[in-house]
Formats: sequence, C-alpha cells, structure tokens
Amino acid sequence: MTLTEKILARASGKAQVQAGDNIWVKADILMTHDVCGPGTIGVFKREFGKSAKVWDRNRVVIIPDHYIFTSDSKSNRNVDILRDFVKEQNLPYFYDVIDDPDGHWVFDPKKGNLKRQYGSHYAGVCHTALPQKGHTRPGEILFGTDSHTCMAGAFNEFATGIGNTDAGFVMGTGKLLLKVPDTMHFRLEGELQSGVMAKDVILHCIGEIGFDGATYRAMQFDGPGVASLSMDDRMTIANMAIEAGGKNGIFEFDAQTKAFVDYRCKLNGTKSTYDPVERDKNEKFVYDLTVDLSKLEPTVACHPDPGQRKRAKELAHIKLDRAYIGSCTGGKTSDFLEFARILQNKRVAIDTFGVPATPEIVHDLQTARWGEKTIWQILLDAGVQMTENAGCAACLGGPVDTFGRMNTPMKCISATNRNFPRRMGHKDSQVFLASPMTVAASALTGKITDPREFLS
Ligand code: SF4
Repeated sequence: MTLTEKILARASGKAQVQAGDNIWVKADILMTHDVCGPGTIGVFKREFGKSAKVWDRNRVVIIPDHYIFTSDSKSNRNVDILRDFVKEQNLPYFYDVIDDPDGHWVFDPKKGNLKRQYGSHYAGVCHTALPQKGHTRPGEILFGTDSHTCMAGAFNEFATGIGNTDAGFVMGTGKLLLKVPDTMHFRLEGELQSGVMAKDVILHCIGEIGFDGATYRAMQFDGPGVASLSMDDRMTIANMAIEAGGKNGIFEFDAQTKAFVDYRCKLNGTKSTYDPVERDKNEKFVYDLTVDLSKLEPTVACHPDPGQRKRAKELAHIKLDRAYIGSCTGGKTSDFLEFARILQNKRVAIDTFGVPATPEIVHDLQTARWGEKTIWQILLDAGVQMTENAGCAACLGGPVDTFGRMNTPMKCISATNRNFPRRMGHKDSQVFLASPMTVAASALTGKITDPREFLS
C-alpha cells in the first residue's frame, strides 16, 4: 500500500485497502473556519438536532482566519456565530480574534490595516496555525472545510478538504465515507540551488501534470531529496496538491517531522502520541515522476491557472502593478526571510504587500535581526507595506476593504497558491504565482524577474 492507503486502511479498521474502495474512516481532527464554519454548524444542527453535541470536543478545531480584519458586517457575523457555537459546545480549541468570549470584533480605524487588531488567542491562517498549535500528527486523518487542508500532508498524515455537508456529518459522528484515491508518485532527488525554493518544486510538478492532473488522486512526495527540504518547504509543496486537483499530498515521516511535531504538541499541550506510516515495497502508483531538485529554476504559474508553468527568466517582458507575499503557502517565517534576503538594502518599484500567515510569524519577523535591524524593519525600509494583521487577507480577494485586495484590473506577482480569475479581487486582474524570492526580485524591477539576478 502507499502512504495514503496505509493511513486510510488503519482509519477504517481494515488490514488492506486499495484505490477505488469506498470505506468509512474515523476522523482524528475536524477543522473549520469563519467562511465554512457557520454553514457546517447549520448542517450539524439541522441533521443532529438543535441541542446535539459534537462527537468529540477535543477533536474539533475552529480557526477564524479568512474575512477577519474587515468592516464588512456579514463577515464579522460569521465569527460571532463561531464564538457562540464554541461557548454552547464548550470547545477547547477556538482561536478567536478577540479575547472576550462575549465580545464582538470591531475594526479600529485608528489602528487601520497595519496595526494589530487581535487578542492573545488568535492564531492566523488555519493551515499554518494547525501545525504551530500542535494539531497535525503523523498517521492521522485531518478533515478541514478548506481545500488547502492538504498542507498538513507535510506531516505524514492524510489531510483533505471537505464541504460543509460532509463536515456537518463528521461533526456529529466523527466518521466519513471516502473513496480511496489512486496515488501519483513524485520522487525528489538532489538539492535546490540558490534562488530556487519549494514553491518552484510544486509549480514545476503542477506544470508537468496540469491543474487537473491529479484530480481525486493522492500526490506522494518522497525520495532522497526530501531530507534537504525543511518542514516549511514540505508544507508549501503539500499545500498546492489541490492546485492540481489532488485529494491530498503526503510526505514520508523522518527525524525533522518528529522534531517539529513533538515540539509543537508539547508546547501547546496537545495529544503527543502518534503512529507514522512508512513506505512499503509493494506500493502501486498510477503515475511516476522523478524530479531532480538541482535542475529546477525559478518558476512562475501564469494567469489564469496554476498549471501555466513558465521559467521566470522567460517572462521578463511582463510588467507588473503589484507584488504580494502572504498566505498559508507563502507567508511563513522562512518565506519572509528569503524575501528579505533579496530586498535588503534595496527599494521596491511597485506596490508591495506583506501579510504574515500567523501572529507567531509577525513576532518572529519583529524580533529576528540581521545586524542592527529586525527583518520587519528591513522590509519596511525596502518599501513593503507590512501588516501585523496575520490572516488570509487578499489571497482570496475578500471584502473590498481587505488589505492588498486588487480592486481594479492589474497584474500581480504573488507568493500565494491560486490564480484563477477573480481570486485576488477584480475579475480582470491577473495573478502570477511564484516563490517569495521571485516575488521580491520582481517587486524590485516592476517586471517578472529571476531572483538569481540579485544573488551574488
Ligand atoms: S491563505 Fe489563502 S489559500 Fe490559505 S487558507 Fe487562506 S484563503 Fe485559503
């Protein structure tokens, strides 16, 4: 069996499963957020009754992160619905934007878009917050009401996005009926060269198979090249499995996985035991690709979908209006460090927005120093508009007052993960997906630029 099949077999109580089997699996964690949480709660109450209790209060994780720092009243109301539900169900894992369980978040115009407008519990973008808060464990099943839930496959678990109806059912029963996906195999060899990042790896893979090339399939990443990829790198790659239509993305378990998970579970007092899955000799794959990491170059996915792969150096003719770094995929501390490495002591030529994925990342950037300056200050000095309000922000457009949203037709290079029309706002805008380094180099020149031009 493949890694995915092994986890699904265990979660269904079977010794063996194979692609195409329909099986009932037990959920380890159900995650929902402010966009889909209210709908999920509605389904749960409709199907299980107004006074029903969730199947296991310790396994439901609720993370408001999408439309948070906006004066849009409907978006604010969604977070209020989550807060009321958490109180009613007495759920321990709710990462609210405010500290008062009876309160209501209100936009403070004095702080504006840039200054912190959240309390001490807020955790930021769900997929980055889940591992930071100790909710991702090897060998487990994670369901989330968000397509990029697949990011947690970096931790050797089966993680996939589900709709509100399925999530309402899981909330009531802790189970879900699943078809076991076929597995596609991506064997990684070698090491990335300077100026090339994990984002380039996944853009390369999606370029090979197309934006629907992994539809309802598992994407398994393994091989000797994985050892040189950090957990952040693996998260970036697993995150974008869905951009090829993948059911999930999954990595092997190793010492890095163990160190990360053990530290995070201990730090947060979450469940610290888990059982990873290892590779079998008799895995059956429906597709095989070997990727020599050392041969990859800075890569861009052009408008209008993540499969439109080109090398950054082929696109120097494309003039840009905006650059954006942020999201679960591209807003991690390591992403900002590589971004800052290119921008240090220089000045951006176009509007450039920076949105850390979580408050912890804001803290990292405001405390880590290169010489006299914090990373945060280096980015401000380079002309980047940095917000402390960690969250999804303009990654998916959002209400019109969302920080970084494209409200007019423009071309943007972005470290995010999705570039279908309207994704970041205006229907006629164009989004070019790239690594944080490529975004930084392009911000400096105002056109798509290979970041190696700025590396000595
Ligand atoms: S940052 Fe973007 S991709 Fe990630 S969860 Fe938020 S909207 Fe989705």
